[in-house]
Amino acid sequence: MLVQRTTVSLNNRYLLFAFIRIKLHSSLVVYIKAPYFTLLCQWQLVSRFKKGTEDYHRAGTPLAEGYFAILWSIIGDLDYFVAILGLPNFSNASMPCALCRTSLTGSNTWSNFRPDAPWRLQQWTYSAWQAWPNRCQNPLFTLPGVSAFSICLDYMHSKYLGTDQYVFGSVLALLTCTGMMDKTPERNVTALHRFFQDFYRRDNTPVRYRYLNRLTMFLRQSGRPKLRGKAAELRYFGKPLLAAWEKWMNCRISVHVDIQLLLKMNVFMENLLSEFRDEICFPPDQAVAFEEACSTMLTLHGKLAVHFADQEYLGYKLKGQ
Ligand SMILES: [Zn+2]
Repeated sequence: MLVQRTTVSLNNRYLLFAFIRIKLHSSLVVYIKAPYFTLLCQWQLVSRFKKGTEDYHRAGTPLAEGYFAILWSIIGDLDYFVAILGLPNFSNASMPCALCRTSLTGSNTWSNFRPDAPWRLQQWTYSAWQAWPNRCQNPLFTLPGVSAFSICLDYMHSKYLGTDQYVFGSVLALLTCTGMMDKTPERNVTALHRFFQDFYRRDNTPVRYRYLNRLTMFLRQSGRPKLRGKAAELRYFGKPLLAAWEKWMNCRISVHVDIQLLLKMNVFMENLLSEFRDEICFPPDQAVAFEEACSTMLTLHGKLAVHFADQEYLGYKLKGQ
């Protein structure tokens, strides 16, 4: 993050380089000026640039003529946090989260999404995390001020490329493969594809799936259904999927009604985000409404996960987040 400019030009190459280094592996040399110079000198000691290389000689020299950078947050998907940074594995039964001491089951389970869920009181404090011998050993976390709190579980990775992929994939599988639609799965997916294309046109949807016409878009060789796609395609897919669900659902089946409500909460959240996309934050009332919709959506997700837990082929799987 650029925070100050005192003199002339910015050398993008060096700054970009610093960020790429963070992404590719855990060695990092940042080229910046005071007041973070002390930090840099320390950081240079843990760098892994080979002696004699161009990078080695550049290490620790000023970047960008007066700009300096601070590590504001660490963003990535769950695989990156585990494989590259060495943070707790999200599939662990105990302590799967970088930010708190929740567990998969028991009273401290993360699948309790109510406001008074016990795991909410189990979040790390800075001093407790620093004193924890099993904390992440990646050199990034030896930087002054960097801790578990620097980890940001961002909305795109957590929702669009997280829970939405599983929920939407499971809903599509239920629609096409369980008799809700009356043809073969292949013919059902073709009919759904036409339905979505019509919906997109009428709704003037900004980002659309163009080829959602194959079962392999959401059925996998192994594992539960998971809808492929880019984050933006998923972001605008809740609304057409809700319309399809309401067309083919059976209102007398309570699980169908739960799924309808889950999708409604999802669409409500996305509509709010669209409505306030130019703002930095929601107004207070909308912030409360957003949080309540999210809690309802996740509580229903947990309930459906239990309902479908015994079914190999269909349904939801609780996934660490
Ligand atoms: Zn947590």
